[in-house]
Amino acid sequence: MKHKFLTILLALVTVLCLCFGLATCGGLGGNGGIGGTGNNGENENEGSGNGEDGHVHSANYFEVNDNEHWKSCTVCGKKFSAGNHAFNADNVCEDCGYTPIYTQGLNYTLDEETSTYSATGVGEAKGKTEIIIPAYYNGKAVTSIGERVFYGCRSLESITIPNNVTSIGDDAFWACSGLEKVIITDLSAWCKIDFTYREANPLYYAHHLYLGESEIINLIIPSDAAEIKSYAFYGGAFTSVKVSYGVTSIGRQAFMYCSSLTSITIPDSVTSIGGSAFSETAFYNNQSNWGSDGVLYIGNHLIEANNTIFGSYFVRANTKTIADGAFV
Ligand SMILES: [Zn+2]
Ligand SMILES: [Zn+2]
Repeated sequence: MKHKFLTILLALVTVLCLCFGLATCGGLGGNGGIGGTGNNGENENEGSGNGEDGHVHSANYFEVNDNEHWKSCTVCGKKFSAGNHAFNADNVCEDCGYTPIYTQGLNYTLDEETSTYSATGVGEAKGKTEIIIPAYYNGKAVTSIGERVFYGCRSLESITIPNNVTSIGDDAFWACSGLEKVIITDLSAWCKIDFTYREANPLYYAHHLYLGESEIINLIIPSDAAEIKSYAFYGGAFTSVKVSYGVTSIGRQAFMYCSSLTSITIPDSVTSIGGSAFSETAFYNNQSNWGSDGVLYIGNHLIEANNTIFGSYFVRANTKTIADGAFV
């Protein structure tokens, strides 16, 4: 009898301790973790160690994206030990041990001023069917793909472009007619890439855009993209696109030849739309989407007037934008 009572008491104390621990952990903010020092991120237990959280934050491994690493506490779920990767010359993060998988043999050029790399030649990767461009090379971000880098790489089927890339040069993917897949890791970053012309965008040939492993069919442009650069989604195989409120501009030919695109949503936050941004989409080619006055609107944005309009035309009330070249 006495033994049973003790067991119950012990259980009660344990439950109370656990509740207290969880409650205090949820109540206190901040990163409990100290900076990661491990090599491979396995079997580490790190935390504030001051006892105020009621427990020491603990996780067995780092989680990563292209640029950052962090741990998620197995007890309270809080992120701790977060930071940017610190890549060494072997492309291994000195803090978390992460080594990105990427294609060897490409050529790079260092821009001394910005201390970043451009991929400038296909090098020994010529003939490969899959190429993964790294987010970092020699510990420095890869921010551009040069002119004609993959020119005529007809065997290329899949290209992975990391989120640090901000520009892709002329004819970078010219005649890459075998391309079927463009893989990215960050949609906002993709929207911000400067493509010198449409053939600079591998989507021009590939049509299918993947966010990680899943193909994007219903495209939602996040508000933090802010702008959609010219040619960004040219020829993409999307069926719908919803631009989130907060995006302010859509570049020229941004969605041109998205031939399956039947549904388009543009919010009032957009104040500029480039020429032919939606030309030759399924939406554009469907006559029933055009007004009886011969004008195509998407939301409160006047996209184009057909060539039956002469003299003067009064735009509808609440029109937010008249796309470039709408009346040419
Ligand atoms: Zn915790
Ligand atoms: Zn790292």
